[in-house]
Amino acid sequence: MPAGPTQVPERLVIIGSGPAAWTAAIYAARANLNPLVFEGAVTEENRVSGTLPLGQLALTTEVENFPGFPAGDLSHYLRSALAADHHWLVDMHHKQGVSGPELMHLMRQQALNFGTRIETDDVVAVDFSGRPFSLTAMTGQLVRAHAVIIATGARANYLGLPSEERFKNRGVSACAVCDGALPRFRNRPVVVVGGGDSAVEEADYLSKFASTVHLVHRRNELRASKIMADRALHNPKIRPEWNSVVAEVLGDEEKGVTGVRLQSTTDQSARQLDAAGMFVAIGHTPNTRFLEGQVEMTAKKYIKWTVPFRTNTSVEGVFAAGDVADDYYRQAVTAAGSGCQAALDAERWLAAKGI
Ligand code: NAP
Repeated sequence: MPAGPTQVPERLVIIGSGPAAWTAAIYAARANLNPLVFEGAVTEENRVSGTLPLGQLALTTEVENFPGFPAGDLSHYLRSALAADHHWLVDMHHKQGVSGPELMHLMRQQALNFGTRIETDDVVAVDFSGRPFSLTAMTGQLVRAHAVIIATGARANYLGLPSEERFKNRGVSACAVCDGALPRFRNRPVVVVGGGDSAVEEADYLSKFASTVHLVHRRNELRASKIMADRALHNPKIRPEWNSVVAEVLGDEEKGVTGVRLQSTTDQSARQLDAAGMFVAIGHTPNTRFLEGQVEMTAKKYIKWTVPFRTNTSVEGVFAAGDVADDYYRQAVTAAGSGCQAALDAERWLAAKGI
């Protein structure tokens, strides 16, 4: 059980459950800081906004670029490393390397092995104005902590159209790898919105299931890296729809999404595309709303690292790691690296304070 308001404050609370959070927990647990991790709550709201526990990697399939996990049959290793109640993950994967959910469960398990305590709950408010800090969870529990590591990551952006909201989970999605294989999209046309690496990656993935993938981009040139852009543009199933934005998602109560209305960005013209779904891939927003007014952020609401090459924030004793403070690299391995840094920074700060 975590400490209540009248109990001894936690030495270190870690908020988040992606690679940054679990790496911080592994290091902190091994340093005998007895960390408490708030991994997030399993709620419908978190599912819809893409903020369920285990973060964005849990929404992907194969992870080919995390060092130490080359392609190959890892199933024997995975079964031996994961608790029995997670062996289903291994059984459902095609055994050519590690999947995102497997990688996250491995990290979580590794943190547990060293004694990390985990609360499956969201931190919804913090008070960093005095030490020990106060954290309030969604279930109402109040925890005090001498040091905090924020590793809450980022989530996918949507266009913000009322029609998009209306059809979320009925054809509108921000995660092709989560939803693309659903029967409703098989051999049907779909739309992907965006021009970055995420958009072309999603379009490529969806081309395995859909009849045509319309890649709707507001300019006439992709932002994606050349190799990924070329792959998408040479894919016969992917049709770029240049200089266009989605003005409205079309559909009805029975079928969900049936198409989109496109508006040109270069003239006044509009047209419709038939589509069974729309996948939005237009960037991310950091999960920092619960920190408003408590810690310095950038204009895009990412937490500011205030000391070069350190994970310190504007609040002494509060550290940040991973995508919540990094809109540039945004990789599992860089998030894990900064999680390690944050744990070491917190450990040294606590030691210097004699806590
Ligand atoms: P991104 O690079 O920021 O691209 C976002 C795209 O969405 C841009 O093309 C942008 O158009 C468009 N966009 C933004 N807001 C829009 C709006 N309201 N309406 C219509 N279009 C809108 O984001 P990302 O693709 O998620 O990639 C983020 C980072 O992750 C990048 O550094 C990327 O390289 C990396 N990444 C790498 C991989 C990989 O290597 N496998 C995969 C995914 C992501 P404009 O171009 O006109 O601004």
